[in-house]
Amino acid sequence: MARNPRYDVLFEPVRIGPVTAPNRFYQVPHASGMTNALPHVRARFRAVKAEGGWGVVCTGAASIHPSSDDSPLPFASLWDDDDVRAHALMTEAVHAHGALAGIELWHGGACTLNRSSRLPPLSPSGMPWLSTHLGFMGNLKPRRMDAADIRELIDWQRAAARRARAAGFDIVYVYAGMGYLPYEFLLPEYNRRTDAYGGSIENRVRLVRELLEATREAVGERCAVALRISLEELRVRPGRNAESEAHEVVALLSDATDLWDVKMDSSPTDCAPSRFTAEGSHEPVIEFVKKLTTKPVVGVGRFTSPDAMASQVRRGVLDLVGGARPSIADPFLPRKIDEGREHEIRECIGCNVCISSWHDGVPVRCTQNPTAGEEWRRDWHPEHVARTADESAVLIVGGGPAGLECALTLARRGYAVTLAEAQAEFGGRLRFESRLPGLATWRRVIDWRLGRLRELDNVTLLPGNALDPQDVLAAGHAHVVIATGARWTRLGYAANEFPGEEITGARVYTPDDVAAGVVPEGPVLVFDFDNYYLGGAIAEALAATVGEVSYATTAGSASAWTFMTNEQPLVHRALARAGVSIHTLVRVARFDGEAATLADVFTGAERTLPCRSLVVVGVREPRDALYRALEERGAEVAAAGISSLLRAGDVLAPGAIVHAVYGGHRAARELRAGALPDAPYRRDFPA
Ligand code: ADP
Ligand code: SF4
Repeated sequence: MARNPRYDVLFEPVRIGPVTAPNRFYQVPHASGMTNALPHVRARFRAVKAEGGWGVVCTGAASIHPSSDDSPLPFASLWDDDDVRAHALMTEAVHAHGALAGIELWHGGACTLNRSSRLPPLSPSGMPWLSTHLGFMGNLKPRRMDAADIRELIDWQRAAARRARAAGFDIVYVYAGMGYLPYEFLLPEYNRRTDAYGGSIENRVRLVRELLEATREAVGERCAVALRISLEELRVRPGRNAESEAHEVVALLSDATDLWDVKMDSSPTDCAPSRFTAEGSHEPVIEFVKKLTTKPVVGVGRFTSPDAMASQVRRGVLDLVGGARPSIADPFLPRKIDEGREHEIRECIGCNVCISSWHDGVPVRCTQNPTAGEEWRRDWHPEHVARTADESAVLIVGGGPAGLECALTLARRGYAVTLAEAQAEFGGRLRFESRLPGLATWRRVIDWRLGRLRELDNVTLLPGNALDPQDVLAAGHAHVVIATGARWTRLGYAANEFPGEEITGARVYTPDDVAAGVVPEGPVLVFDFDNYYLGGAIAEALAATVGEVSYATTAGSASAWTFMTNEQPLVHRALARAGVSIHTLVRVARFDGEAATLADVFTGAERTLPCRSLVVVGVREPRDALYRALEERGAEVAAAGISSLLRAGDVLAPGAIVHAVYGGHRAARELRAGALPDAPYRRDFPA
C-alpha cells in the first residue's frame, strides 16, 4: 500500500550537525535492562527498531566512569576498550539498516549510590538526591565536588566521547536530565556552590556547556553532539531575563549543541502511565524550545498516532518525533506508516510494564510486544514467525489476551485456527478491566489482535461458544490450546502472612462478581493484597457508583506494586480525589456483613470499620476444569486425533496481562517447533 501523503512530512531527512537522519523517527535513549554483559541481546533489540524504520536508534544511558554506578539497576558502561567492543555490535547492527546510532553518555551523580564500585557518589554541594523510589534508596550520601573533580568529570566525558566515536556512534550525548549530575548543577537546591559553577543561571549551566565542548572536541566532525535535558522544573522557575529558567538555559546553550533532546524531570512525568496521562503530555513544557534555537529538537509523548506526530512537526513543536515505549511496543511503527499500514501499528498501551523490567533488573518486557527482549535470546522477530509445514487445525479455547495472541501467532504460522470464546465478546479479563477509570487505552491489547485476526482467512472466530470436554473431543483438531484464564477467590490473608481461609458470608465479593455486574451495597470495603492496579481501580470505580468506599491493604501504600510502573503516587491521588479512605498495613481478620475487623499486620491490634459489602482482591486460581478433564481422558484425547494439549496464560499461572500475552505467544511459537517445554534460551556472553 502507498503511504498517506499526510504523513510525507515524517519521512523527510533531518540534518543533525555533521550527520543526517534519514527520517524524523527518532528512538530516544531508553532503559532496556541490557547491560554490557548482554551485548548481543542489546544489539539485536536495537537493530530490529532500525529495521522497522526508525531513522535514529539510540542505546540506553552509558556510564562514563565507575563513580556513576546504578547497580542493582541494570546500566551500560563505556569505561574502556572492552566496552567499546560491546557497543560496536549495536552500532554495526543499526547501521546495517541505514539508521544512525546514538549514545547517551551518563553520569548519575548523587542519584547513583555506587553500590558496586563503592566510590563516594559525586554531587555539586553534597546534597543527596531525592530518590523517587524508596526501594532504591541507599544510606550513602554524596560528596561535594571540588574544582579538580569538575575537571576530572569533563575529562571522563571527553574520553567516553572518544570511545563512543570509536564504537561507531553517530550522535553522542551530554545528559543533563532526571536528577543526574549535570542536571543537579542546574538547580540551586542541589547546587549551592559559590564558585564559577554555582549561583547565577549562567554559572549553573557552565558545567553543561563545558561537557558539550569536551564532547565536540572528542568527536570532531564525525559525530553530532546532542544535549538531553529535563525542563519541567526549570520551566516553572521565573527567569531573570526571560519567562523561565528553562528559556534562559535554552537561550544560553542554543548553539552549543547540534540537537536538543527535551524531556521531563522524573520518571512518572517523563514516562507517564496512560491510566493518568494522555498522549503528547510533554508539549506544554517543551513547546517553546524550537523558538529559541535553530538546532533540531526531539521530544517524546507516547506518540502512536501518525496524525499526532505530523501535527507536532507541522506546528513547529518538534523536528524529530521521539519514541521510547512506542518503539518497544512496535519496532516497525515507521515502516507501517511508510507502507500505508498505520492501522497495523501495535500501539503502546502505556502500562509501563517495560519500566518495571528495569526496576526488576532484567531485559525489557512489553505487554503489547511479547518479542521485546527476545529478539536474540529466542530468535523472535516482531513481524516474522516461522511458517509451519504442518497445516493441521488448532483449537484455542478462551479469547482473552493469551488466547488472542496465541491464535494470531499460530495463524501467522499457517495453522488453521479456531478460537472459541464463551462470552459474546472477546477480551477476557480486559473486557471488564478496560472499563475501569483510566484503563480504556489497555483495550488496544484486544483490539489490535482482533483486528489482525479478522484479516486472516485461516481463522475462525467463535464468540459465544463455551466449550466442554465433549465439544473439544468432537471438534477433531490436531492441537488444542486451553487459555481459559483464572478466577478470583475469596481467600483471605492470615496473621502470619500465610494464605488465609476463605472469607465467607453475605456480600463478600470478588472482582469477577463486580465484572459480572454485581453492584455491592455501600458502604463498601475493598481489601487488596494483590497489590497491582485492580484493587485500586475497583475502589475508584465503586466510589463513583456506590458512594462510600474504603480501601484496605496489607501493604504500606495503595496498589503498592505500581511503584514499579510509575503509577503509585497517582493511584493515591486518584483515590483521594474519589473520596476513598485508605487503610494500610492491615488485613481483614473478620467480616460479619455489618463491619470488617481490620488487624494491624505487625501488632495484630484490631479496629472496626463499618461496611455492608467486602470486595476481596487477593488470590487467583486457574480456571482449569476443562484442561483437567481433558487430561484425565488421555485415551479419548488421543483417539480424537489430538496430538498436543497445551495451556497458556492465566490458566497455567495467573499473572499480569504481560504474562498472558507472552505465554500465548510462546505456546504458538513452540508448537511443533521442536523446542522442548522450558528449553533454555540462548545465553549472552561479553563481547
Ligand atoms: P488470559 O489472561 O490468560 O487470556 P482471561 O481470563 O483474560 O485469561 O481470558 C480467558 C477467557 O477464556 C475468558 O474470556 C473466558 O470467558 C474464556 N473461557 C473460559 N472458559 C471457557 C470455555 N470453557 N470455553 C470458551 N471460553 C472460555
Ligand atoms: Fe507500552 Fe506497556 Fe509495552 Fe511499555 S510495556 S512499551 S508501556 S505497552
